[in-house]
Order: sequence, then C-alpha cells, then structure tokens
Amino acid sequence: MPLPAMVFPVSDGRQSRLLLEQLVAFDTVSRTSNLSLVAFIRDYLDELGVPSQLVYNDAGSKANLWATIGPDDCGGIVLSGHTDVVPVDGQAWTFPPFKLTESDGKLYGRGSADMKGFLACVLAAVPTFLAMPLRIPVHLAFSYDEEVGCLGVRSLIEHIKKQAHPPVACIVGEPTELKPIVGHKGKLAMRCHVRGAPCHSAYAPKGVNAIEYASQLIVKLTAMGIELRNKPSDHRFDPPFTTVQTGTISGGNALNIVPAECRFDWEVRTLPGVDGEQICNELKHYAYQEVEPLMRAVQADTGIHFEPLQNYPGLLLDQNDSLAKFIALLARSSDFSTVAFGTEGGLFHQAGIPTVICGPGSMAQGHKPDEFIEITQLRECDAMLSHLASGLSSEEVLKKVLMC
Ligand SMILES: [Zn+2]
Repeated sequence: MPLPAMVFPVSDGRQSRLLLEQLVAFDTVSRTSNLSLVAFIRDYLDELGVPSQLVYNDAGSKANLWATIGPDDCGGIVLSGHTDVVPVDGQAWTFPPFKLTESDGKLYGRGSADMKGFLACVLAAVPTFLAMPLRIPVHLAFSYDEEVGCLGVRSLIEHIKKQAHPPVACIVGEPTELKPIVGHKGKLAMRCHVRGAPCHSAYAPKGVNAIEYASQLIVKLTAMGIELRNKPSDHRFDPPFTTVQTGTISGGNALNIVPAECRFDWEVRTLPGVDGEQICNELKHYAYQEVEPLMRAVQADTGIHFEPLQNYPGLLLDQNDSLAKFIALLARSSDFSTVAFGTEGGLFHQAGIPTVICGPGSMAQGHKPDEFIEITQLRECDAMLSHLASGLSSEEVLKKVLMC
C-alpha cells in the first residue's frame, strides 16, 4: 500500500549533517564516558520541549537516553542507536577522527557510519515528528557500551519494559545502506582459565600442564563445531550453521617449566533460535566431568574456570511480518537479508519487540580508519524518517500495516 503524501519536503540534509558534526566531536569510545554527548542530546530535546530520561550505569559514568515524542497512551516505534564508538588507536587515519570532514561527497569521522549518522538523522527529524499528528509515538532509545558487548541497552530495555505502554516495534539504525535487515546470528564469547601446577619439565608427569589440558578443551570445541555443521542449517545466514572458534591463547613461561596457567578465548556464533548457553554447557560438562578430575588427581588445587565475555541473542524476523513490510516501504527497499555483525536488535526482539535493522551508511566502513558516510545516505535516511512520520500519522497505515 502507498504511504500518504508527506506534509514536509524531504530535508536537504543540512540539519542531520550539522548534528552529525556535533556528535562526532564527542570522543565516545566505549572506554570513556558518554555523559557529555548525552547531555548535548538531552539539551537539544529540551529545547524542542521533549523530555528525556537517563538510565545510568552503576558507576554513574555512562547513560542510556529514552525519550518519547507523540501520544503517551499507546506504545510506539523505537528508534534505537548506540552512542559509543570503537577506538582509533593504532589505526592510520588520513582525516581527524573526531572532526567531521567532507571530501568527495563523503563525511569522514569515527562513528559517522557506525552509528552517529543514524542518531543525527533521528535528532534532525524530531521537529518533523513534533509537527505531525502522530497516532502512535516515536521512542528514542540511545544506548552506551554497544561496541563492548551490547551492555548498556540491557538496562534500557528493562526501563522500557516498565513503561505503561510497551513499544510495538523497533528499528535499530546500524549501517545497512538503508536496506531492511531481518536477521543476524547471536554470539556468546567466553574466556577459559586453566590453572595447572608448575614443576621442572624434567619431571613433567608430577606437574599439571595447563597448556595441554587447555588443548584438550580446544580439541573438544573443534569437534563440537564439526557436529554443529550437521545440525539443520539456515541458508539465510553465511555460513548457514552455528560456528565455534578459538581466537586467542596464552600460557607458559619457559620450555623447561611445566606451565601453571593457560587461558584461551572462544566464541560461538549461533543461528537465531540456537541456545549458545547450551553449547557452552556442553563444553563445561566435558571440562568438569572429564578433564578437571584428571588434573586434580595429580594436584588438588588445579582446575578450570569459565569467564563470560559477551552474550547477545540472534535476530530473525519473518520478512512477511507487517513491521518488516512497513520498514521496506519506508526505506523503499524490499531487499530483505541478514548481516554477519551482531546488534542490539536481538535483545529488543528477545524482549518481545519485533525488530528490523535499517540505517544509513555501510558497515564496510565501520570500525576502520577513515570511516565515512556518504552524504546521500544521510539524505535518504532523512527521507525514510519523514515517511515514518507520515506513516505514523495515518490511521489507515497503522491499521493495515502495523495492525494497531
Ligand atoms: Zn554499531
């Protein structure tokens, strides 16, 4: 169905670009506080008469921001984005990373694509949302610490769940070149610490070799990965099955000492619906039942310990879902696909809020030196959000497309 004609002309991108310049100037690498950026956004919204709520971390050094525009007697559409960016350390930047620089139709700066470009477009659209007779509200959900394991958004989702009227849908504006993305894999990452017992290597059997016992666990993981290939596959994902891999390992001090410590980091990338915890428990079971007793038979104070690093669920929305169709209409693209990178979308989806990933820019530029966003992508995102404002103001659209 066609969307009603837009009341407002599509922006020329000046406002979103100006806001992007301001957002990029805040160094919000995940290890630093995002409070000054959040204060900037809160002040911007205040000036427009939009109240916002902050959900802080335990230390009070970072905050999520939540704001609602439109009626408060029903749930609306969440526009979700993260305020943190990845570090620039060790990267060879031609452009200053925290000063937005235009060159050749592109805007360079850390976070321009991932994902301050979307935040800028959303903020630029607020006056349009305010001016339109929205039938259901737009919610802004801006998080911290996405880049280090989707940490901040968890308390934000708890905050959202307490709202009198829970949202009906969510758009996560990670860079997809404005193609609606309906799925990604989940991820569970763990660090495994193996504590052995050292001794002179000439008496190796009297010690507990942490590297060798860690190797047994890694061999087990490899075997589990091979088994997972034989489970039902889903060809919407590449590779079409759940994968397991060990990424780093360290341990030992010298060849003539039986190593006392070894640790390795491993991850499982799950198809949506596959429980990463269950796979983790299989390894833990093997570690505690098969491997640890062998170690403790030699020396009692040895053992294996698992430390969680990251855990977020996968996302998969049926492309025939009314939300998916609605976003496709807004984005003028029905190229439904999946992406390899993870997002906060899995957590929104898990909380019962149907979610699509759709935002400006490309992840091909994300996390890299000289990250950029095409100016045309900002304009197209501005247009998408104007269409959203029109759609949410139309009873017909809401009834037919969002069924609310
Ligand atoms: Zn991102």
